[in-house]
Amino acid sequence: MTFQNTLEFAKKLDAADSLATYRNEFHYPQVNGKDVIYFTGNSLGLQPKRTQKFVDEVMKDWRELAVEGHFYADKPWWDYHERLAEGLGKVVGAMPKEISVMNTLTVNLHLLMVSFYRPTDKRFKIICEEKAFPSDQYMLQSQVRYHGLDPKDAIVEVKKRDGEHAWRTEDIIKKINETGDELALVLMGGVNYYNGQVLDMKAITKAGKDEGAFVGWDLAHGVGNIKLNLHDWDADFAAWCSYKYMNSGPGNASGIFIHERHLGMEDIPRFEGWWGTKKETRFLMEPEFAPIETADAWQLSNPPILSIAPYLASLEIFDEVGMDALIEKQKTIVAFLEFVLQEIDKEVDSTFEIITPEARGCQLSVFLHGEGKSIFDYLMKNGVITDWREPNVIRLAPAPLYCSYEDMFRFGQILKAGIQGK
Ligand SMILES: *Cc1c(COP(=O)(O)O)cnc(C)c1O
Repeated sequence: MTFQNTLEFAKKLDAADSLATYRNEFHYPQVNGKDVIYFTGNSLGLQPKRTQKFVDEVMKDWRELAVEGHFYADKPWWDYHERLAEGLGKVVGAMPKEISVMNTLTVNLHLLMVSFYRPTDKRFKIICEEKAFPSDQYMLQSQVRYHGLDPKDAIVEVKKRDGEHAWRTEDIIKKINETGDELALVLMGGVNYYNGQVLDMKAITKAGKDEGAFVGWDLAHGVGNIKLNLHDWDADFAAWCSYKYMNSGPGNASGIFIHERHLGMEDIPRFEGWWGTKKETRFLMEPEFAPIETADAWQLSNPPILSIAPYLASLEIFDEVGMDALIEKQKTIVAFLEFVLQEIDKEVDSTFEIITPEARGCQLSVFLHGEGKSIFDYLMKNGVITDWREPNVIRLAPAPLYCSYEDMFRFGQILKAGIQGK
């Protein structure tokens, strides 16, 4: 498709967009009395209007049923989390039994490492990407130290080549092969938070498994953003937060995937609690743990129902839309945004450099050469919500559920005015 950087053309794209009506399904913050152009769905997704109903329902059941709500609410609380498994399975490419929802992302990565990082004298190394999201770095370092090892010996970071902004799959695989039988675990961000790169998870998973290691993925920026096939890719585990592209609200619960080959095992190392034991016998309060035959065996506590109610509301939307339609729009809207940026770049005398490679999802990370933070402030004051990363990078994520092509055009005009007005 040949794009044009005009309002008329943007409106034409909106008119042809089968997801356009979903815009009305969300609440928008206001700046200067108008809905903002929201580019930070990769940080905190907007609130779906239907979320309120799901939360109110739990409040009502609690008010009217109190403890009886566990079993007699319309959506009983004791197995409320199970309602998420099927929809999430479709979003990440997994069987419902391979999914659970619990805790928050960093907590879950720690719990999963209990099961999947079992260093021995020989096999103790972890491969991750350089400059991983800080929480992941702290998590990996503290796990390694917990096992009495030195992060300098045990953590192997894959670097980008000098002057390049993205990782090369061949470099990651080479590092995996070099580490060989010292490799215990590959744990990486499937979609990088900084440059928006989508890693070749299928190839990397295979390489890690061929070396006899476990392979897990942090999908904070992947879930609800790109097509995932965790089961077929044969990953051992994955975890993600739900408040970014999944629109489930600030700090909300995390999802996990555990491949079916690890399910139903009594002897896998795992931290356990009463919500992981079989439902049939849970309330007999017996001392022996009998793991549920699903990923719920990793659940420790009874889940926060008020908190996962918004997650269920959000999944309903993903279920209606389907990942294929979502990704189809995403590809077009991101390409249009890229085009708008290139056009504006020609019209002003600064230069933008898009550092996100072709293997991308929703996010474009843009290096604003010669521009300072004042541009970011100008955008925010004029109703464009984006974020700023040192040094001079803005991240733009036009989430296809609630961003329009017109938003992309208008953003371009605001950006141009900001640069010219300096
Ligand atoms: C957002 C994000 C997190 C956040 O972790 P929480 O435990 O939910 O605070 C972790 N890892 C990555 C890669 C992220 O992008």
